Amino acid sequence: MQRNTEVDVLVIGAGPVGMTAAAVLAEYGVRLRIVDRRPGPDSGTRCTNLWPATLDAMAFMGLDVGELLERSQPMRHKVFHLGEDSFSSDLTEYGAVSPVPLTQSQDVVDAMLTARLERFGVAIEYGVEACRVDPDDDGVTVVLRPAGPASDAPAERVRAGWLVAAQGMGTGAEELLGVRRTVRSFPGVRILHADARLENRDGIGPDEEHIYLAASRSAGLVPLPGGLHRLFLMEPDPAGGERPGAREIVSAVARVSGLPLTAVEPACPWWARPESRIAETFRLGRVLLAGGSATALPLTVHGMNNGMQDAFNLAWKLGMVVRGLGDEVLLDSYTVERRRVARKLVEVTERVLGMGTSEDSQATHGPRIRQGRVDMRTQPSVTYRQSPLSQDQGRPGGPQAGDPMPGLLDLAAGTRPCCTEWTLLVPRDSAGAPPVPLAELRALADKYAAVRLRLTEPGSTVHLVRPDGHIAFRGPVDDPAALAGYAARFLR
Ligand SMILES: Cc1cc2nc3c(=O)[nH]c(=O)nc-3n(C[C@H](O)[C@H](O)[C@H](O)COP(=O)(O)OP(=O)(O)OC[C@H]3O[C@@H](n4cnc5c(N)ncnc54)[C@H](O)[C@@H]3O)c2cc1C
Repeated sequence: MQRNTEVDVLVIGAGPVGMTAAAVLAEYGVRLRIVDRRPGPDSGTRCTNLWPATLDAMAFMGLDVGELLERSQPMRHKVFHLGEDSFSSDLTEYGAVSPVPLTQSQDVVDAMLTARLERFGVAIEYGVEACRVDPDDDGVTVVLRPAGPASDAPAERVRAGWLVAAQGMGTGAEELLGVRRTVRSFPGVRILHADARLENRDGIGPDEEHIYLAASRSAGLVPLPGGLHRLFLMEPDPAGGERPGAREIVSAVARVSGLPLTAVEPACPWWARPESRIAETFRLGRVLLAGGSATALPLTVHGMNNGMQDAFNLAWKLGMVVRGLGDEVLLDSYTVERRRVARKLVEVTERVLGMGTSEDSQATHGPRIRQGRVDMRTQPSVTYRQSPLSQDQGRPGGPQAGDPMPGLLDLAAGTRPCCTEWTLLVPRDSAGAPPVPLAELRALADKYAAVRLRLTEPGSTVHLVRPDGHIAFRGPVDDPAALAGYAARFLR
């Protein structure tokens, strides 16, 4: 098939991150290509969970998260065990689609994203590798070539206005893009996983993750859909570096946890040496980094979630800019917002890794665990209060600019703003509240193609909500000039 050699956006990498970016850009009507050097979709053992913020992003993207909820396993509690003590933490947090994380196979998420792309007529170009990237002030020139053993097919030069680098971790983002990253490794430690159906799991609820801390090592169990569990282990890395099989991993988890585990058909053994990496910036002019290209976490529990959230945050901004609906300053907020979340995740996961491999967990972590002072939620709530896009002139209390707007996304009521829309929430007039200058606010909404006005319960505050459901502007309803000033800075 003849491919465009000039596009608005080229996406490198068709993992969940690249596909998320491409699906949102396609929704905006952006001309794009997405390439991946793999011969076809990935299907190895990978992500098992979906955090509430990721599910909300998927809903804004128009994915069928209602069906996903039915097929997935909710995870309501995380239980830490330390010797005779155990402490259970409720995993509930803000999430419009689900207040608790779900467990689900990454293959299911990949399939949903692929289907979404197909709906927009976007076909992933597998077997195509980006081997050279030359950015300039107006765009990026990328050399693509057939991946794999030397082929006679000629290399192709593609000119793109923007490049989304979604190549995953450890895939040469430094060399290809010239990205500088802060790297931290954890010598002498390794992480292992295996999946299994456990026969005797007394005391382990179907919606509970359990973590067992012991000297220098820890083990855990996460429930998966279909009655399976993912078993994991953090432990000293033996000098020989031999790779244990799934059965050995189950036995090691049984030893550390003290559980009499019997596993039926243990499978998918996996191990890695942890490392964290974070790019100094997520934007290098016309090159934008997302997911593993920007951040690698020492524990596997966040990579896909964090990356999909990056991609969603980036893609609606890029879609607005490419389609002339928003000012390029929107993109400046991308690094500020997402690098902050990434730094927090690096910090949390490094702390959990330290806790899980501490030589003396009892003395070091026992008191905090017993007092319930360990933040067990693996994904801290996502808010962008410090973003240059967040302007708050509202009264103290309630959700602020940068926070997710409660009630905006309500699947039960069938309310789902599209990821191309900004929603202007205007309170209805009522006795006792300041008069609402509705005509003026309607005129303001009509001025910008992306803004939709929605009337809400009576009150005194207007909210302008971004396409990702976060509050952009909050201010008094009787001061439309402040809102107009905000809109003029960012919207076109
Ligand atoms: C065992 C395991 C368990 C995990 N569990 C979880 C979990 O519970 N929760 C969670 O959130 N995450 C988890 N993860 C992490 C998650 O799987 C990854 O973070 C996620 O796949 C990253 O997505 P990505 O799109 O950034 O990268 P990838 O999925 O790696 O996709 C990047 C793609 O880019 C392509 N590519 C690279 N370079 C080029 C190039 N030059 N040209 C063309 N194509 C290129 C690659 O072929 C690849 O397909 C787990 C990972 C593993 C291995």
